[in-house]
Amino acid sequence: MGKTYNIAIDGPAGAGKSTIAKKVAEKLNFIYVDTGAMYRAMALYFIRQGINRENEKEVEEACGQIEITISYENHSQQVILNGENVSELIRREEVGNMASAVSVYKSVRDKLLLLQRDLAAKENVIMDGRDIGTWVLPWADTKIYLTAGSKVRAERRYKELEEKGISCNIEEIEKDIIERDRRDMTREIAPLRQADDAVLVDASHMTIEEVADRIMEIAADHGLEVKKA
Ligand code: C5P
Repeated sequence: MGKTYNIAIDGPAGAGKSTIAKKVAEKLNFIYVDTGAMYRAMALYFIRQGINRENEKEVEEACGQIEITISYENHSQQVILNGENVSELIRREEVGNMASAVSVYKSVRDKLLLLQRDLAAKENVIMDGRDIGTWVLPWADTKIYLTAGSKVRAERRYKELEEKGISCNIEEIEKDIIERDRRDMTREIAPLRQADDAVLVDASHMTIEEVADRIMEIAADHGLEVKKA
């Protein structure tokens, strides 16, 4: 087996990482790996078990009861929690907030590290998260730090939820986003930060297509042979 090509995309909540990564994966025929979904699956387990997120010991013990695996259906990542496909259930806001709270713990992060590295070693992947370029795949061929202003990110999230028929308040969403960023950036283990060798892409005033093209361009600069359609 030859060496795989890995693209890491990190950035704050709502910057559009998953939308962009999916698009680029499709264009390049890469596997898209959504690491946030793995944290969310663990969070769902903690919610169901009534685990107190402030209690590190309780969270750590519960980690031992969790098995997360990933499979693909029509190129779409499925997250399996102890044998159950939870890919839809984990999208709820409540699950995202729990994921953000428990992802500060070493036991939670260690649980997912090998799974993530293993996927990247086997396949050409574009993997998104918070610590991919800095910690999970520091050897990634291309690293992107994707960001956008918090207002823009809140507006996008608001539209997304509205389209799903979920009523919400835009100020609340922005507050939530800022709080998540703060937690992700200030935690002790694997905090969110731009890797020294990552390329910054500010998507505040760019369309999805423009961002995807920019990432392909950066990957091409980093040795990826991109075939023109
Ligand atoms: O990206 P998404 O919103 O699905 O991630 C949920 C939460 O999981 C994030 O708020 C973040 O705290 C955590 N996370 C992380 N490291 C990653 C991916 C996600 O800490 N690589």
